[in-house]
Amino acid sequence: MPQISDRVQTFTDSVIRRMTRISNKYNAINLSQGFPDFDPPKELTDALAKAASKGPHQYSITFGAAGFRQALAAKQEKFTGRKIDPETEIVVTCGSTEAMICAMMTICNPGDKVMVFSPFYENYGADTILSGADPIYIPLVPPEYDFDINLVEKGFKDGAKAIIVCNPSNPCGKVFTKEELTAIGELAVRYDAYVVTDEVYEHLVYAPYKHTYVSALPGMFDHTITCNSLSKTFSITGWRLGYIIGPAGFIEAARKVHDFLTVGAAAPLQEAATAGLLLGDDYYKGLNRLYTEKRDRVLEGLDRIGLKHNVPQGTYFIMIDIQEFLDRPEFRDRSDLEFCEWMIKEIGVAAVPGSSFFREDINRYIRIHFARGSEILDEALGRLAKLK
Ligand code: GLN
Repeated sequence: MPQISDRVQTFTDSVIRRMTRISNKYNAINLSQGFPDFDPPKELTDALAKAASKGPHQYSITFGAAGFRQALAAKQEKFTGRKIDPETEIVVTCGSTEAMICAMMTICNPGDKVMVFSPFYENYGADTILSGADPIYIPLVPPEYDFDINLVEKGFKDGAKAIIVCNPSNPCGKVFTKEELTAIGELAVRYDAYVVTDEVYEHLVYAPYKHTYVSALPGMFDHTITCNSLSKTFSITGWRLGYIIGPAGFIEAARKVHDFLTVGAAAPLQEAATAGLLLGDDYYKGLNRLYTEKRDRVLEGLDRIGLKHNVPQGTYFIMIDIQEFLDRPEFRDRSDLEFCEWMIKEIGVAAVPGSSFFREDINRYIRIHFARGSEILDEALGRLAKLK
């Protein structure tokens, strides 16, 4: 085979998405890759049917259809209180996955440093490699997933151009407090760097926790690159609709990167998703209620079984501590990945091995998600009980 780049040989395929493939092969209940198994709101599917017959079917403007950007700007303004100019401050992308790599390629020269909290959503690792950046990892230390702000300051002092903040945090469910984000933001301003946020779980924050928008903190808009998507908010992960919101100068550059990466997100889907963005507060409250119930159902189930777990403040993920199993003779020297493969085959439930999120040598956690119907969650809990 003719040679391929060194770059692509330094990372693996996504373990999250690999677990879905293995799960499908063994017909297990897939709680690995996080996506809902229920339909989007009817307003969206109706609008999609209309788009199918009435269009648009050709390219939208590369950086996003005007109506979609206007609706995104209005939604962001509603939740953050800051007016967003859809003409200059938004670029629509193919999911937040493209938003993040686009942001990274817009910020980084080869060799630039970027801080990443660990555990982290595995895309950020590949994003740093693809954009040529050198990651500096800042531990979020379990079980509370706290971090040391002094390490963040040291990262900036050492020249980090940006820090990626996934809030609420995949996989650990941490919701960064306003104080934590203010402290990070002040450092970013002082060292003239960016805070790149991934806020795809912004509406899955469980009481009493609250989502803080970094971009809306005083003085932070010009230093914040907000990456987001409609995937989780409207249960449309397959539509691949994301966006970046940021200061106009940055967005102008990011639009060029986006244009040459993908040209644009699917035009009929932008049209249809606009109907979702026009939904009122009740929709977001209902979504939050739905996920709060699911979270509580699974947490109670895990407690009944006697599995140790964190209590996520946000997202639809739970980290289960499997150390008690790894201590058993039959699992000694087995990795968390091997445990997950065994669990798919023998228990019939798929999870993601925690080591694919941690930079540190931590193998004792597996991640499950609960974006599934109640019956299937109960069935999964029934199967997990067999672990004991
Ligand atoms: N964010 C989801 C997860 O962590 C899936 C994202 C994806 O596969 N694109 O499981």
